[in-house]
Amino acid sequence: MSDIDVAVIGGGVVGLACAVALARRGLQVMVLERAERTGSETSSRNSEVIHAGIYYPPGSLKARLCVDGRDRLYAYCAERSVPHRRVGKLIFAASEAETAELDVIAARADSAGAGSLDRLDAAQARRIEPELGVAAALFSPRTGIIDSHAYMLALEGELNDLGGAVVCHTRLTRAERVDGRWQLWIAGEDEPVLGARLLVNAAGLHATQTAALIDGLPPALVPGPVYARGCYFSYGRPVPFTHLIYPVPVKGGLGTHLTLDLAGRARFGPNVEWIDDVDYTIAPHLHAEFLEAARKIWPAIEPDALHADYAGVRPKVRTADGAIATDFIVQAPDDHGLAGLVNLFGIESPGLTASLALGDEVAARLERCGDLQPA
Ligand SMILES: Cc1cc2nc3c(=O)[nH]c(=O)nc-3n(C[C@H](O)[C@H](O)[C@H](O)COP(=O)(O)OP(=O)(O)OC[C@H]3O[C@@H](n4cnc5c(N)ncnc54)[C@H](O)[C@@H]3O)c2cc1C
Repeated sequence: MSDIDVAVIGGGVVGLACAVALARRGLQVMVLERAERTGSETSSRNSEVIHAGIYYPPGSLKARLCVDGRDRLYAYCAERSVPHRRVGKLIFAASEAETAELDVIAARADSAGAGSLDRLDAAQARRIEPELGVAAALFSPRTGIIDSHAYMLALEGELNDLGGAVVCHTRLTRAERVDGRWQLWIAGEDEPVLGARLLVNAAGLHATQTAALIDGLPPALVPGPVYARGCYFSYGRPVPFTHLIYPVPVKGGLGTHLTLDLAGRARFGPNVEWIDDVDYTIAPHLHAEFLEAARKIWPAIEPDALHADYAGVRPKVRTADGAIATDFIVQAPDDHGLAGLVNLFGIESPGLTASLALGDEVAARLERCGDLQPA
């Protein structure tokens, strides 16, 4: 059995960022990823937006880690030549009735530390985006877009430079604490194959099921999984927009919005569909629904150029009180009593933006529990 300092379960953007944060502290880190390559689940099924941190309640982990992660992500992209652009975002009120909502969003952004947003009247909004017919809008200059695959490659490269490794085709099936270390079983093996002092569960949509594989973790501390699919429709022709364009948020998500990729191509989404299991199917009838939502942004949209593209599933969780968690859950030894273990639950949006800050949060929580360095 090989022995290392840290095993990270899950090679999505958050697992990779945690691995880098711990490797930077001089630890020998291995990422175990069950798929054939890294970043093939939620980390490659999102909007690729660097969020400014506008919507999260002040004092929440999402608010703190999004703002911190955003600034660090821009710096990381610049240092490591990861393609990205600070394009800015408009949040619009489609009617006079929605304009009060903009004030609530602006006030929350301010108190969450996201920075102030510019309030625009209809004429000012039209000067920025002439095709957008709205009553009023907020402009967020700190919102951007990123090539998430290039970012994950950069993280993996840094991890390798620091002596760490990612092992794909490797699914954790059991973890047991023996003599102060974690012994790890992987699919296809009858014996534990890896020993690690620290174990980070960053298994995304499967984090709750992965936690159930960890011996000694009280089941009452493992939340239940809840899945909310978000589908995207892309637009096959040029669009007249140069900023990201969002309606005021809806329950469960940010509302069907228009994002741009780095080549200027537009996509609309994600919607919110509550589902029982992870399933990326896009129902054909959604075309009409997306067309209606897209027309609120762009009345002149051509229906035949709008087509189903891809879907992602939000890894939400339900806590013991039956409520769906609204914040990230970083569960450390001082929460569950098992030395060296951190579980990450409910790492939905803005997990990509917050990833570098989440990695440091995991390291800080282990350090606070006295687990980071060997006894
Ligand atoms: C529709 C949608 C839009 C979003 N848009 C944005 C956005 O614009 N900006 C933003 O900041 N965030 C966004 N997010 C959130 C962001 O995508 C996620 O927070 C982030 O990708 C989560 O990364 P992760 O590493 O935790 O999970 P994942 O990327 O899902 O990685 C988990 C990995 O664990 C592996 N795994 C699972 N079980 C095991 C096991 N037993 N053994 C080994 N490996 C295992 C899986 O194969 C997977 O690769 C969005 C999310 C969704 C769903």
